[in-house]
Amino acid sequence: MMNIFSFSRLNLYETCPRRFYLKYVEGMEEPPTEAAELGKAVHRYIELVLHGESDPMPIVLREAAVELKEKEIQDLALRYLKKHVTTPLQRYEGHIQVELDVRGAAFQGYIDLLDESGIVPVITDFKTGRVFYEPNDNMQLLIYAWLLHKKYGYEIVEARLWFLREAYKRAIKSVTYTKEDFEYAEQWIYETVNEIYGKLVQVDMEIVDALEAFPPRHGHACTYCPFAKHCRPDVAELPDEITAQTVEEVAGKILVLEQILAMAKEQLKAYAQTKGAVRVGDEAFTMRPSSRWTWPMEETKQALEELGQDPNEYLAFDNKSLQSLMQKDENAKEKLKTVGKEYITYSFVHMKAGDPHEERAAVLSSRRTSA
Ligand code: SF4
Repeated sequence: MMNIFSFSRLNLYETCPRRFYLKYVEGMEEPPTEAAELGKAVHRYIELVLHGESDPMPIVLREAAVELKEKEIQDLALRYLKKHVTTPLQRYEGHIQVELDVRGAAFQGYIDLLDESGIVPVITDFKTGRVFYEPNDNMQLLIYAWLLHKKYGYEIVEARLWFLREAYKRAIKSVTYTKEDFEYAEQWIYETVNEIYGKLVQVDMEIVDALEAFPPRHGHACTYCPFAKHCRPDVAELPDEITAQTVEEVAGKILVLEQILAMAKEQLKAYAQTKGAVRVGDEAFTMRPSSRWTWPMEETKQALEELGQDPNEYLAFDNKSLQSLMQKDENAKEKLKTVGKEYITYSFVHMKAGDPHEERAAVLSSRRTSA
């Protein structure tokens, strides 16, 4: 039975118990992704430089599980290293582990940087992704601060996210945690770990099935889940009719099936790219070339005039530019609304819940139904 827990494990359990089970209990391997490997490479580069390595790049590239761009790693690492001020107490902390008072389990975390030079210790977590968010949008920093509190007894910890793709002025988001926060983190950890252990025991004793104890929790995570094809055996079964009771179930299955479809297409594309078209009966999957021209305005105008053509006949208003002008400028919007005509068509899509388009779609739909 698993006995090492971490923020990412508990977070995965909360995001989708099924994926947690497949990964950490069944031991299924997640294939490395470029984004995750880039993150690891940048962290490793910084770590090696701080430990005095003069030529870290060959080591970093050798350790990466996918091919990465040298320049991207270096640029991101230098965003931090150029600002780095060495103090004797600032160090790359790495692995911290504390014992949990449950079944001999332990909790671990990897802290990127620990600075103990001030009155309050500061931990920093580097982010190499493109998504910018607040420290308290998830529990990661709080859990790292709690680890430090448990290991070294600190009562106050400052924790920072450092977004390496952002300009320095807005790259750092900081938060301070105190004793009450640590109590909250500890409670969350113990409750979640106990819940997982409780379910594992029930599965072990065959009181409940693993799929029932650790059910799929559909959502945005499905769109990049490597375990989609192992998610649920009934994925291709549909109810005879769609009702308020079955609608969420069907929507969840669509998310899983879309991910399986995307993975199948990737496999087939990789094959077609090297070996050519794949025939299935009278259908074929193949790489279709498409070409697109761009036309520099002045030169094109001149060429058309030289050909004896009227350039105005070939010039069209660019819908995209006009729409973007309307979005940027209220005056332009009002003016253009009086000359343009808006056509609304509806296509059935799924999008992230809370997306501004979701609200607009609801307004437009209600206008359509009441018309
Ligand atoms: S496909 Fe979705 S519901 Fe299924 S395991 Fe992955 S994240 Fe969970």
